[in-house]
Amino acid sequence: MPDVERRLLVSLHDVAPRHAEAVRRIVQWLARLGIPPAQLLVVPDFHGKWPISAYPDFCREVHDWGQAGHELVLHGYHHLESQAAPKRSPGLAERFKRSFMTAGEGEFLSLSPREAGDLLERGLAMWSQAELGPWPKGFVPPAWLHRPDLDAALWRHGFDWTENHAGIRFRDGKRLAAPVVTWASRDPVRRIGSRLYCPAAMRAWSKAPLVRLAIHPHDFDHPQLVRSIERTLRIAAADHRQAVGSVRSPIVP
Ligand SMILES: [Zn+2]
Repeated sequence: MPDVERRLLVSLHDVAPRHAEAVRRIVQWLARLGIPPAQLLVVPDFHGKWPISAYPDFCREVHDWGQAGHELVLHGYHHLESQAAPKRSPGLAERFKRSFMTAGEGEFLSLSPREAGDLLERGLAMWSQAELGPWPKGFVPPAWLHRPDLDAALWRHGFDWTENHAGIRFRDGKRLAAPVVTWASRDPVRRIGSRLYCPAAMRAWSKAPLVRLAIHPHDFDHPQLVRSIERTLRIAAADHRQAVGSVRSPIVP
């Protein structure tokens, strides 16, 4: 398979005023490593305490990153599951996802299409109010968790693509398998596990046409994780992966 068909998509999650300092640092760090524009996943009102429009300086920075070629993506609304959600879907699988895969941040995990649509509308309204630029074409649910019927609400609100752990789904029904490498920073056991797993996973997927690498602001609280991310990026580069900055042009089938 020609090298050019092996691609790497780097994303930075949880772009919000709460994480402004880390986000800035990571954007600069990626540029220093020669990573082309990345995907920046913007949370309109992180945990209900950080409405992005109340931070005009940060909004301007995000806007400018979008202008510079980064793909701005909508990433939930509060990035927090509502208190009522666990009572509505108490199944074992749901409980596992909720407690193990995310610390209660699977905001779209149990939302009906109507509730999801309401939050998407609020997100786009905040996007305009914050003057971040043209409305985003991509939506990534927090922790990649959502109900199977989310897509209809997304397409109705003008989005072109979304993704979960398995890959990317497009409005026209196309799907692109794309494993994702991401680090867990919540506790020492997860951090050690991630440092072992992520570089090995990147190596194991050396033949996959597209691999996603997702960075979270809290990763950068831990120098060992930063080194692991850098090592994993270098493995991707050694495999002659071509880093692509967005879903929009380079990888839309
Ligand atoms: Zn997130």
